[in-house]
Amino acid sequence: VPVDPFDLVVFGATGDLARRKLIPALYHRLHDGQMPDEARIVGAARGELDRDGFRRMADAALEEFVGAGELDPDARRRFLSTIDYVRLDALSSDGWGQLSAALPDADERPRAFYLSVAPRFFGQVAERVHGAGLARPDSRIVIEKPLGHDLASARALNACFAGHFGEHQIYRIDHYLGKETVQNLMALRFANALFEPLWNARHIDHVQITVAESVGVEKRGPYYDGIGAMRDMVQNHLLQLLCLIAMEPPARFEPDAVRDEKLKVLRALAPVTDLEAVVRGQYAAANGTPAYAADAESAESRTETFVALKTEVANWRWSGVPFYLRTGKRLRARVSEIAIAFKPAPHSIFPGSAGRTGQNVLAIRLQPDEGITLGMTIKDPGPGGLRLAPAELDMTFADRLAQAHLRMPDAYERLVMDVIRGDQTLFMRGDEVEAAWAWVDPIIAAWDERGDRPAPYDPGSSGPEDALMLMHRDGRRWREIA
Ligand code: NAD
Repeated sequence: VPVDPFDLVVFGATGDLARRKLIPALYHRLHDGQMPDEARIVGAARGELDRDGFRRMADAALEEFVGAGELDPDARRRFLSTIDYVRLDALSSDGWGQLSAALPDADERPRAFYLSVAPRFFGQVAERVHGAGLARPDSRIVIEKPLGHDLASARALNACFAGHFGEHQIYRIDHYLGKETVQNLMALRFANALFEPLWNARHIDHVQITVAESVGVEKRGPYYDGIGAMRDMVQNHLLQLLCLIAMEPPARFEPDAVRDEKLKVLRALAPVTDLEAVVRGQYAAANGTPAYAADAESAESRTETFVALKTEVANWRWSGVPFYLRTGKRLRARVSEIAIAFKPAPHSIFPGSAGRTGQNVLAIRLQPDEGITLGMTIKDPGPGGLRLAPAELDMTFADRLAQAHLRMPDAYERLVMDVIRGDQTLFMRGDEVEAAWAWVDPIIAAWDERGDRPAPYDPGSSGPEDALMLMHRDGRRWREIA
């Protein structure tokens, strides 16, 4: 569905996020007919560029991140002609008059400000957008992680934005929520009658969520140090995924209906009091790749690059069902998935070795190879008598998209268009962010108090031994990272 012509100001438009994600996402939306030619994208950054210079930069970003061979010449030309540039400084009044001039006031079209700048600029930019009279009551402001460093700073950030904008104007991105499979998870749960009756402690044995990366912190080491996997991944992405699995059905697929239910899940998370239930790791050196401490340029660093933990959603639906979460860098493969493991059949009618039934596992793969599989037990095909064997019902989205000659859209395509449409369903509300920090903070504080270092683990492994033990102790095991 095409959106109305809009103005989108991208602060930090010459940066990595803008070039790698936003510009390609907007190009695709124009190419696919959703973004109109009359839309205006105004890049605003400190770089000494003029409009043509920034158009050349955007064009180079399309070549690099969409792929020169993939670009449609007509869409490319039309897209670039929507782009303008204003040189400004977030920390002074330089350039703000020009930005005003680039946004003719007579236009009553949707207006959004994307803060693709370091978080230390958020407050100043919000204040100047407001002070320069650029924001209308329905203008949107878009921000992204890190949304604070702990509960206190997240509260301060929320308060700072609340000083200039209403909550209905603030779009906090967690790009995991824009992923096709994550949205499919909601369709799977709430558009089918099949799973919901089973979606509770009576039928589900446990849930595991894995977000594994194969790369290390690379050149971001000094930035990453002092942040760590708990703040960088668990507080936002993994807890958001947990919320979508655990939440009650909202009455409607509407922003506050969905976000109210997610908030209830965050508030129902049992506090982690047993540090045995949280494993921290830090990747070691091997085969010519440096250890994290070298990447971070901090020999004594206590920052974790891996976390595995067990928690529980302490409410009627989920009582007693463990949720195992793990995320880490430089692991065996780049895999993100959610697995719902159901309880075994209560009684086997098949004698002897034929009676070994597998566990039904619903696996939702976020990357790579997005899709959903349902692990089943079937009769081993063939004439050899009734023997049981595992089999999978598999739905790989790439196959379905290929049949329809479609491309897998990037999360940012969906999210940026939702901003323009004014739909906050896939964005985090301020109270959700705070509730997630409120759960994470005591764990980090307990680590700090203990003062030990994360367990080293081998690059290319599935994390420290203790992470395996976390599930072994409960008679369960992690799914392979492969
Ligand atoms: P970056 O350092 O690559 O780019 C920063 C941009 O800010 C540049 O365009 C620069 O010109 C501009 N800038 C710096 N100082 C300025 C000033 N005083 N006034 C005006 N503009 C100024 O950063 P990035 O990686 O693009 O990240 C931007 C934001 O997005 C950060 O909040 C980051 O945490 C977040 N983020 C980035 C990614 C990513 O993939 N890069 C992913 C998630 C979140």
